[in-house]
Amino acid sequence: MANPATGPTRHGRHCASCAAPEADAHADASCAVWNLSHELRATRDEPATAGLYVHVPVCRSKCRYCGFHSVPAGDVDAGRLVVGLLRELEQYDGIDCGTIYVGGGSPTALPTGELIRLVRALGERRPQAEEFTVECNPGQVDAELLAQLRAAGVNRLSFGAQSFLPKELELLGRGHSVEPIEAAVATARGAGFKNVGLDLIFAIPGSTLADWQASLEAAIRLNIKHVSAYSLSFEAGTVFEVWRQSGRLAAVDEELDRAMYEWAIERLERAGFVQYEVSNFARPGYECRHNLGYWANRPYVGIGPAAASCRMMDRGGLRVTNRAEIEQYLMAVESGAPAPAEIHEVSPDDAVCETAVLNLRRRAGIERAEFQRRTGHDALRTFAGPIGRYRELGLIEVTDRAVRLTRRALPIADTVLCDFAALE
Ligand code: SF4
Repeated sequence: MANPATGPTRHGRHCASCAAPEADAHADASCAVWNLSHELRATRDEPATAGLYVHVPVCRSKCRYCGFHSVPAGDVDAGRLVVGLLRELEQYDGIDCGTIYVGGGSPTALPTGELIRLVRALGERRPQAEEFTVECNPGQVDAELLAQLRAAGVNRLSFGAQSFLPKELELLGRGHSVEPIEAAVATARGAGFKNVGLDLIFAIPGSTLADWQASLEAAIRLNIKHVSAYSLSFEAGTVFEVWRQSGRLAAVDEELDRAMYEWAIERLERAGFVQYEVSNFARPGYECRHNLGYWANRPYVGIGPAAASCRMMDRGGLRVTNRAEIEQYLMAVESGAPAPAEIHEVSPDDAVCETAVLNLRRRAGIERAEFQRRTGHDALRTFAGPIGRYRELGLIEVTDRAVRLTRRALPIADTVLCDFAALE
């Protein structure tokens, strides 16, 4: 399959993505976007819907632990970026989106007018989306911005709080203190948002169990609807990783990391949250539908530099990952061509395994009937080896309806899931 990153072919007529005459030029599967959007439309067993992810690749400053793709907001022409994102979205005309998620980077690092222009256009072009989330940096919002987001149809906010301890926010390089987090949640409520969540990080270097407990208690007091809690990981290319290698920072030891995680599960459950995924907790009815789509391995369209789009089905799948370089991205989409991308065809066997691994991250696990319908495989038979081994250890449970991780397995979920990543 030709990679549009090597230079999109300009055939001159029909395809909205690469201007090829569809009937002939696409017979050799030369346009990844056409392929993906055609796959999405061609599915018989599911309506032509996908989750829509919009990647805003800018931040005001770089947090020391962050391995996500972003560049300084001042280096990018925000107006041009927003127009480019919306041009790329045109390539997926005809694909309905049940959810929209604007993430980054920091969407709120955009000038207010540009962010509002982006979300208004997204809402107008995908009015059927039931859930519309914008990620917000708590230090970059005010009452006017949040009111405008709400008026534009956004109905869910996810604030990157990370910690409620000043010393940890300082170490992480977050660029905001504790007060703006509390103020942002209150302001969001005042603007009419019922569905507000926080991202938190535990096992921050130097952190004790009491530190983590204080942070999580502060989050619970804000009466939010959703908590994502991730253990800090040292990502290549980050300041934290450089500091770790030089001995300036040390990872929290594994036992403490695990104690923090287990305490979070227990405390959040007591506070009325349901753990619906390994790292995600919500009050009933407030689970993130967009992310549930990823864990169900349903199709998604990602627009923006470094964003990925994906479609998996029983005969295999297709993953298209836009390249991260912003100028190349903009030049391509401005000319009506697909964004430069890496294209990865997923074999039928790998599609089955990816679906199993993603499903097992949910507390609902692999729903056996759904799995059979979507992959053509009986999960019990296909994964008889790992299911048998982990059942004996009390780490997997099997019911008439599902195969799922037990509570005991959650702290070592990644290790268990490795055994589902390939067919034996
Ligand atoms: S953590 Fe968020 S705000 Fe910080 S650099 Fe990464 S993407 Fe930007």
